[in-house]
Amino acid sequence: MDLAHRIKNVFDDLPPDLDRLRTLRIWHALWVQRIDAKIAALQRRQAEEESGRRRRPRPPEWIVELGIGADRSPVQVHAGDCHMAGQRRRAVSRDEARRLLATGLEGCGHCRPAARLHIIELSTPRCRYRSIDSAPAATGVTSGL
Ligand SMILES: [Zn+2]
Repeated sequence: MDLAHRIKNVFDDLPPDLDRLRTLRIWHALWVQRIDAKIAALQRRQAEEESGRRRRPRPPEWIVELGIGADRSPVQVHAGDCHMAGQRRRAVSRDEARRLLATGLEGCGHCRPAARLHIIELSTPRCRYRSIDSAPAATGVTSGL
């Protein structure tokens, strides 16, 4: 069997009469409609998911957990994505989180905001000297920052 004969067989397997050809044409047109409808539905869903992702507000970078009571004073600083933070909370800026930690507000032990904010751990003992420059060289403290 030569190539031309094989190709002729592939394209010539359709019925020879008009009735069956028209039936096949309708059948395939219905299939194309179904496939197009499914493609359109999937494209709509993808577009909705994408727009939902864009509209969802990003979590705040830092949050402060608030106490109970009328004043709802801040009790602990957390990173914005920390799941240990309670439901009473408000978003704070990076600067406010740093300020609250610096003024002695507790940082969460789980998300460790002081470490993330590159604040020297407040729980570690502080240098006895007021400044590095006034520290005697014998202590091994260097000012080579
Ligand atoms: Zn936390």
